[in-house]
Amino acid sequence: MSIQVTSICKTYNTQKALNQVSFSADKGQVIGFLGPNGAGKSTLMKILTGFIKPDSGTVFVDEINVLQNPTAAQKTIGYLPEHNPLYSDMYVREYLQFQASVYQISELIDVTVKEQIEKCITKVGLTLEADKKINQLSKGYQQRVGLAAAILHNPKVLILDEPTTGLDPNQLLEIRTLIQTLGKEKTVLFSTHIMQEVEAVCDRVIIIKKGVVLIDKTLVELQKNHQQIIKVIFNGKVNASQFQQLELLVSSKDLGNNTWELTFENEEDMRPKLFDFAQEKNITILELSSENKTLESLFTELTSH
Ligand code: ADP
Repeated sequence: MSIQVTSICKTYNTQKALNQVSFSADKGQVIGFLGPNGAGKSTLMKILTGFIKPDSGTVFVDEINVLQNPTAAQKTIGYLPEHNPLYSDMYVREYLQFQASVYQISELIDVTVKEQIEKCITKVGLTLEADKKINQLSKGYQQRVGLAAAILHNPKVLILDEPTTGLDPNQLLEIRTLIQTLGKEKTVLFSTHIMQEVEAVCDRVIIIKKGVVLIDKTLVELQKNHQQIIKVIFNGKVNASQFQQLELLVSSKDLGNNTWELTFENEEDMRPKLFDFAQEKNITILELSSENKTLESLFTELTSH
């Protein structure tokens, strides 16, 4: 198991930031850690990376007990904190050399430090920017510098706290692609409050609200659990009770003028079944439209007040 978090609780003064949080992650998964602001995402990431201690619970990363042995665990973790703290007056390559010396990465890699820095620069797409000052770079490229610093010691697990916040749409796509690429070799846990991001990048999503895990599912499972909503207009009157014979029906809503909104479990496309139903009842369907409830709406439903 790459990450194993069990029953983590954390309270700041009187405020409970995490309440019995448990989850685990296999090697090579990209996990989206999703929740509204204040849900407890950063707190959990700081605990996972050994920067703060929980009140109770256990955390293992790459089979190392983070609470008992944070330094050993940090050797296997790459961490990009929220707001990506960088020394903006430094040149990109100079900054990475500085990070490499501070963290003594020569002990952790099987190539020279110089080679490793060039490898990371290439991996995150900074080759043309490597001799520029960090403050001359766009926000997207600054994020790449943060990511390069996070992977310098060749960690097995990457923890990225809101890596795409504040990026423009192009930069966002580039950083997402980069996260996916890194996810091919590493376990990646990244936090976001954007559902589309999770859909685009992750194998799995953990949704957290007010310090409690609400959902921990693969994206495939989550998409399967979506509902199909069909809006249908008949040419005559239908009673709600008649819909009861339709399999997988969750609810029916009368919108007036023989128009209905029917919600189904999304195990199969229900439109053909609805045509059969209309034929059997000898009524005509004048109009029919179908939509799947998006993950975005599921997220809003779960996390809104
Ligand atoms: P998220 O990353 O999901 O936005 P955080 O983990 O930053 O959430 O915060 C969770 C809750 O804990 C919030 O209500 C926040 O105000 C509170 N909190 C976070 N850090 C501290 C701190 N150092 N002292 C007091 N309260 C904090």
